[in-house]
Amino acid sequence: MAKKKTSSAPERKTKTMGFATTAIHVGQEPDPSTGAVTVPIFATSTFVQEELGKHKGYEYARVSNPTRTRLEQNLAALEGGSSAHVFASGMAATTAVTQCFLKQGDHLICGHNVYGGVPRLFNQVIAGYGVEFSYVDTSDPEAVKKAMRWNTRLIWIETPTNPLMVLSDIREIARIAHAGKADLVVDNTFMSPYFQRPIEHGADMVMHSTTKFLNGHSDGLGGVIVATKPHHAERLAFMQKAAGAILSPFECWLVLRGVKSLAVRMEKHDQNGRAIADYLRKHKRVKKVLYPGFPDHPQHALAKRQMSGFGSMITFETGSLNNAKKMLARVRVCSLGESLGGVETLISHPATMTHAALGEEGRKQIGLTDGMVRISVGIEDTDDLIADLDQALAAI
Ligand SMILES: *Cc1c(COP(=O)(O)O)cnc(C)c1O
Repeated sequence: MAKKKTSSAPERKTKTMGFATTAIHVGQEPDPSTGAVTVPIFATSTFVQEELGKHKGYEYARVSNPTRTRLEQNLAALEGGSSAHVFASGMAATTAVTQCFLKQGDHLICGHNVYGGVPRLFNQVIAGYGVEFSYVDTSDPEAVKKAMRWNTRLIWIETPTNPLMVLSDIREIARIAHAGKADLVVDNTFMSPYFQRPIEHGADMVMHSTTKFLNGHSDGLGGVIVATKPHHAERLAFMQKAAGAILSPFECWLVLRGVKSLAVRMEKHDQNGRAIADYLRKHKRVKKVLYPGFPDHPQHALAKRQMSGFGSMITFETGSLNNAKKMLARVRVCSLGESLGGVETLISHPATMTHAALGEEGRKQIGLTDGMVRISVGIEDTDDLIADLDQALAAI
């Protein structure tokens, strides 16, 4: 191949690259030993050493693995952090945060409507180690400020929340955290870094269940913590080695494959989301639609300020458990199931599925009714999704 006339140093991929280019190229450079255009799956537990203390940067695969390194470089770049560490699931990543940054006598403030597995972990596991938790409505920064204590080390929020689509002001809460010498962690699973980059608003760490939009194909579990400070990175790397809940090379590869199409997928998720939210809102049997893209959503202004799209998570009110049951039995293109963020549209009933463990009282407290149906709009043809919902809603 002819050499470029003006050849100098190899082109550097910098932070000034666009999102899609970053997703496709950072950490995804061709394999230097073979030229393979995709990152190889390094299925190896150990690495041979030339002599005592002389190796190529890898010793044992719990500590580090080249496929994992590449994914971590990629995710750090997408979120605008300085490091990323991946774990076996979103919950394993959450556990690692507690292991890294909380000790006996510490306090954590958590949103009162975060992913159900998070309070389950905090209350039924971590509280046993002498850590205290307060659950507050983080959509109200004043409530967060009031909950701060001298021993508050972390604030954990999720925005928008599942399934009520309530937002929390990342910038405002980061300010409160930092005034009290605490760190803010944002679970950014619902928006993906394509639509929301919490670090740019002051968050110290970002958590994802990569199981959802980042992987995007509903074929693997995973979790990541993107961090901004060297001591966070050091501690998280130590915890991968010490506790060992790491992501396997194959699943790292699945996420590397998935993120290459993140930008185009999110655009289509957003486009379908808007169309379906509008369709549902006009439907006479649908009583209410929760979607931050509506100009009359109470936090629409905040949504526009901290998100660059509205995503594809929509919750709507069918009026009763029986109505929800009837329509969910009729869907054909939409799949009835838990989880979200895949290319296929998933539809679920929070009260009996994802939020059953909250109990009736707990659900009432956050405003989650038996008639609510949540939809994670996929990237199928818009018309097919609307036709499917239309025939299903005819059942009520
Ligand atoms: C799924 C999910 C989690 C948990 O992740 P797993 O990969 O299932 O362990 C945490 N937060 C949110 C918002 C999620 O949707």
